[in-house]
Amino acid sequence: MKNATIGYPRIGEFRELKFAVEKYFKGENSQEDLEAVANGLKEKHWASQKGKVDYISSNDFSFYDNFLDLAILFNLIPRRYQELDLCELDTYFAMARGYQSGECDVKALAMKKWFDTNYHYQVIEIEDDANICLRGSKPFDEYLAARKSGIETKPMIIGPFTLFKLARFTGEKSVDHFVEQTVKAYGEMLERFETLGCVWVQLDEPALVKDLAGDDIELFKSVYEKLLERKGCLKILLQTYFDDVRDCYDQILELDFDGLGLDFVAGSKNRELVINGPYLDKTLFAGVVNGKNIWKNNYNTSLKLLKELEANCKEVVISTSCSLLHVPYTLANEPGLKEGYKRHFAFAKEKLDELLELKQLSASGDLGNEPGYRKNKELFGKRDCVNERVQAEMNNLAPADFRRGDDFDFRAHCQKKYFNLPLLPTTTIGSFPQTGELKRMRSLYRKGKVKQPEYEGYIQGLIRQWIEIQEDIGLDVLVHGEFERNDMVEYFGANLEGYLFSCNGWVQSYGTRAVKPPIIWGDVAWVRPLSCKWISYAQSLSAKPVKGMLTGPVTMLNWSFPREDITSKEMALQLALAIRQEVDCLEKQGIKIIQIDEAALREKLPLKKSRWHDDYLDWAIEAFRLCHSRVAATTQIHTHMCYSEFGDILPEIDAMDADVITFEASRSDMELLKKLREEQFKTAIGPGIYDIHSPRIPPVDELALAINKIKEEVGLEKLWINPDCGLKTRGETETVASLKNMVQTTRETRKNM
Ligand code: GLN
Ligand code: ZN
Repeated sequence: MKNATIGYPRIGEFRELKFAVEKYFKGENSQEDLEAVANGLKEKHWASQKGKVDYISSNDFSFYDNFLDLAILFNLIPRRYQELDLCELDTYFAMARGYQSGECDVKALAMKKWFDTNYHYQVIEIEDDANICLRGSKPFDEYLAARKSGIETKPMIIGPFTLFKLARFTGEKSVDHFVEQTVKAYGEMLERFETLGCVWVQLDEPALVKDLAGDDIELFKSVYEKLLERKGCLKILLQTYFDDVRDCYDQILELDFDGLGLDFVAGSKNRELVINGPYLDKTLFAGVVNGKNIWKNNYNTSLKLLKELEANCKEVVISTSCSLLHVPYTLANEPGLKEGYKRHFAFAKEKLDELLELKQLSASGDLGNEPGYRKNKELFGKRDCVNERVQAEMNNLAPADFRRGDDFDFRAHCQKKYFNLPLLPTTTIGSFPQTGELKRMRSLYRKGKVKQPEYEGYIQGLIRQWIEIQEDIGLDVLVHGEFERNDMVEYFGANLEGYLFSCNGWVQSYGTRAVKPPIIWGDVAWVRPLSCKWISYAQSLSAKPVKGMLTGPVTMLNWSFPREDITSKEMALQLALAIRQEVDCLEKQGIKIIQIDEAALREKLPLKKSRWHDDYLDWAIEAFRLCHSRVAATTQIHTHMCYSEFGDILPEIDAMDADVITFEASRSDMELLKKLREEQFKTAIGPGIYDIHSPRIPPVDELALAINKIKEEVGLEKLWINPDCGLKTRGETETVASLKNMVQTTRETRKNM
């Protein structure tokens, strides 16, 4: 068997690309400098794969986002960017991040989550007068550059179906109008590759793993029937990932693809499709090495699967489940992680070794005598990761642990009396500006250069300062400001047992931004208070209620690398038990309003609707309820979600049984508000009335308009007034000015009632 990668991370082992691009943005770097860094990275990434991988990808590099790359390649540059009249690279960056200069202020393309990953892509816009044609040369340049360094690559390009499904059609015209041009453009690209002497081209079509309607399947068929007529002697690999292709497997078989890439890690039905389906007369690129997680591959399982697959197809190539973009570079830069841990992990570079070893083992007639196989097998026995106390708590969970003692209406009644808040209570989402000084202090503290009493005194000072500011502004429910946290997941993970952290485990989140997700190593346990002392300190300074802030179990899980030896449900429940302990701790110290953030709950909904409940929502909701089931009727539970696109799961959100939910509300959200009313949404709501992602101070009349509109849709009784997310990325001046306007507007609205 041969082996392959779908794509390799590109941001650089030490985030070299990020720094080079940011320097270019600041004008400290020329285009040539930037290209030199980029070319160096490409060479390095190909070189890492050479000798280990048979089918190496090119064009997996990108300055910002490989979906956005299509806009340049196929002439999909919206008019507002064309009019800027910039060079190609600057036009590209203008689409990525907007463009401001003098009077001119052009907004960036929207950014969205790439399927169920934490990577974001830029949403390409297709305008009515778009003229889709082959315009750019990046894929060809990269292919030739690799060949020059002695590597025959398979260029990867996102395919036309996924382009159509993810792009936004901005005018009257829809997909049908653009099919012909698009097929022609992709066709020309294929012809060009053929002329260059390329052998395989990989077309990525992850959109095929979503639920497909009849129209979608028709579109897929009609595009590819025509496109594949133009492939000449090229071999075309249809690459899918993130789930299975149950909705279109038959159609795929009928089409003249030479290779089919399937994800056997996340695609639960792919195995069955191949094994029980008709003989697969194509090369199957079998994604068995997980491209989304950092645990070592289980060779025994993979080799068995590969054999089964081989029995029913022409050829099997061992591949990764998706691009390695979603894992960090290498364990080589993790001196802080002990060997005992590291031997269980494989980052991108180590996954290349796994691909090689799997290839060698697949040819062995006597696995039991292969040292690599035996060494691997040892990893999947017992691991030092069990916490008896947590196990016992898990075993003792009973239905009552998932239900609050009092029903929603009774609680609402008690809380109304207890808090005696005005109509339209005002609050914020939790964090206040994290200044450069605070970040410096934190870093000095971490390095031991600032001692604990000094650091803690500093944090207390900030809390004091912001309690005063909030009192002065006149907010009704205050917060402590989250100054002790660098990040809402990392801070909690670092203070719970069961988590591990990498030093350089960066994963690209979007453009120049990378995150370092923590690793869930073992049973998660609460061992010490997480934030209690800061929050109760804040409460001691004010007679108004201070809302305690916690990160919820589902968000903790979704923004970490999860274990593979227990289920998501088990991990979420363990996290919930830990957070419940913190909730108890807060309640005991007199914190009467507690917010459990589930910023990432909506974004990890399974790609297929049929799996929403069993595979996700059922346990996600249970986990959330477990956190707060024990609190008194007068303790008010809030939650916060970053995405408001939860119109399709309103009953489930209500089932979380929080008392209040705040969320991001944007332009299109009047739809959602209508739905909330129609479906008699029970939980009180705080739809963000202004956008915190911009430094702009919302004027009073604009806020009044927003409040009036919202109140018309959902009434007054259940409405809270707040910004749409935490304020940690904002400056102090604009934060105070915006909140003052918010409170003033609310007071005027109350007066006019
Ligand atoms: N409480 C967090 C904050 O205010 C919520 C962040 C988020 O929603 N991503 O920063
Ligand atoms: Zn948010």
